[in-house]
Amino acid sequence: MPIQTTMAPYGIMPVSTADTKPIWDGAKEGKLVVLKCSDCGFLNWPPQPWCGGCKNPDFNKEWVAVSGRGTIYCWYICHDTSITGYEEKVPYAVLLVELEEQKGLLVMSNLLNFEYGTLGEGIENGAAVEVVFDKASDDIFVPQFQLRR
Ligand SMILES: [Zn+2]
Repeated sequence: MPIQTTMAPYGIMPVSTADTKPIWDGAKEGKLVVLKCSDCGFLNWPPQPWCGGCKNPDFNKEWVAVSGRGTIYCWYICHDTSITGYEEKVPYAVLLVELEEQKGLLVMSNLLNFEYGTLGEGIENGAAVEVVFDKASDDIFVPQFQLRR
């Protein structure tokens, strides 16, 4: 299978909103930014209206850059051609990456810059990965992951 160096063009373009603007602003500067609860220190991803750590629906929010390093928690190979805009991209890997800053801090992404088989041969749980930012538009850079070298 050819190596995917990008998922662009994105069939479904992420949109920066009031709740996600810090993520997209950070990504444009090459930083992976997550929502931290300044009350208990828990890192929340994706951003949510209550803290996953202390369960407070009115927690004090702080956006922080993390290392972008983690390991593959689990993965699958998408063969589903019913996802609008991604029909031509199958098969492709979908990952849950566990970031090193916190157990259970999972980011969904694709796997770029690595040659794997159509059934995912070569992809292993626990493999060390790092974030890369995939240009989707002039303003949107999507956090994706590649194996750490
Ligand atoms: Zn909290």
